[in-house]
Amino acid sequence: MADFDWQRRRLITQLERQGIVRSPAVRDALMRVPRHLFVPDEVRQNAYEDCPLPVGLGQTISAPHMVALMTESLDVKPGQNVLEVGCGSGYQAAVLSVLLNGEGSLVTVERIPELADLARKRLADLGYGNVKVVVGDGSLGWPSDAPFDRVLVTAGAPGVPVALVSQLKVGGMLLVPVGGRGFQELFLVEKSGAGVSRRSLGGVVFVPLVGEDGW
Ligand code: SAH
Repeated sequence: MADFDWQRRRLITQLERQGIVRSPAVRDALMRVPRHLFVPDEVRQNAYEDCPLPVGLGQTISAPHMVALMTESLDVKPGQNVLEVGCGSGYQAAVLSVLLNGEGSLVTVERIPELADLARKRLADLGYGNVKVVVGDGSLGWPSDAPFDRVLVTAGAPGVPVALVSQLKVGGMLLVPVGGRGFQELFLVEKSGAGVSRRSLGGVVFVPLVGEDGW
């Protein structure tokens, strides 16, 4: 029986040394969420290696350094209204839910019903009760719960989806990988009273965002 707690601590310490994990809140959230319970049995032994893993139906759970980078950049605080597009395994949603600390709300949209069902059950079983998993095309956002303080897209889009920007509050932030099907740039989009700005956080590789304002 592998010592997953020890492996998790070792991975997070490595991410801290690399300067990817910086804040105590993100460190604590990554320490608390058991990544090995979000991946299929066949790859459980690899859960604390810093690489993406298959979660079925051609989709992947992002590598830990990518989850750490996005979570640090998004700066989620208790009380915020957060949208994730691309629930996948539900792991990133669990990390965000720890950061919300029971205050605020988190909606995560998944296009593939089987993945959404699995993630919903897993999140409930593990006690992440404040996460709402919904099935739909997240390239159009989730209007019924908008506006959002934070939006995180964990699939690669051909451009910044317009609905996601319009569903963002003034003062809000959107993280979205934008580019080709095989390679993207991670953009941090910020909405202020003066308008919308964006900057690149570097090159990334995500599965495609499939939908009306995606591929
Ligand atoms: N955040 C996930 C990893 C996401 S992989 C995790 O922590 O495990 C990207 C996911 O986005 C896949 O599950 C894919 O099915 C989903 N996806 C792709 N296009 C989508 C869309 N338009 N709306 C919602 N989900 C989408």
